[in-house]
Amino acid sequence: MIIKALLNLLYPPRCPFCGTLLSPHDSGDIRLSPAGGGSPSWMERLTCRRCAAELPWIERSCPHCGSSLEEGENECRRCNTGIFSFQDCCALACYRGEIRETLHRFKYRGQKALAEPLGKLLAGKIAREPWSSSLEFLVPVPLSRQRLLQRGYNQASLLAGVLSRELGLPVKEILERVRETESQTGLNRSRRAENLYRAFRCCREVPAGSHVLLVDDVLTSGATAHEASRTLKEAGAGRISVAVVAR
Ligand SMILES: [Zn+2]
Ligand SMILES: [Zn+2]
Repeated sequence: MIIKALLNLLYPPRCPFCGTLLSPHDSGDIRLSPAGGGSPSWMERLTCRRCAAELPWIERSCPHCGSSLEEGENECRRCNTGIFSFQDCCALACYRGEIRETLHRFKYRGQKALAEPLGKLLAGKIAREPWSSSLEFLVPVPLSRQRLLQRGYNQASLLAGVLSRELGLPVKEILERVRETESQTGLNRSRRAENLYRAFRCCREVPAGSHVLLVDDVLTSGATAHEASRTLKEAGAGRISVAVVAR
């Protein structure tokens, strides 16, 4: 406790999205439906008031692909059920503005400490999903060996570490990225799927019928999560749910 207080004094907590110093009255809660009791860590104030109110948090989303539903919209127009090999997707926010910039700092500028607030916020949202109670373990989407050497860390593994602690579930690094894939940017959906086909392999046994939480920082076309899930299912997993910071 003393160490924590001292650290807070030396490095006062800042909003992970805009860098504002957080004092008890500047911090805000993020609104996320369905309303209900949140876990204690969820209630910890992790962002400033402005970011809690103004960033594009996903309140209502398509249960299958995780994309944000507009006011009055009950069905997702962006996906047809069944196109992805994962069953559920939980995304904290839309991939734009400060969310996008924050993930960029997390992934490319070495700001590994962002895993902590991002993971805690995401864990709070996952805990509200009806499917979260049957999850058995977490699997981060892996980087290729070459990419890992370049970057020095896998942002998905860092997130999975925080989620593991918050949700009380083990992490199993059972996926390997076996093939270097060309950049996904600028490829259309079918080219992305082709580019990723057989990019992963399971390097350890997958418990038959298990419910897996696949963790990544961001899901855009869904091709990566689809291929990783397909690989896990081929190896025996029963149900794959996906958790990402942004969609
Ligand atoms: Zn902020
Ligand atoms: Zn959808």
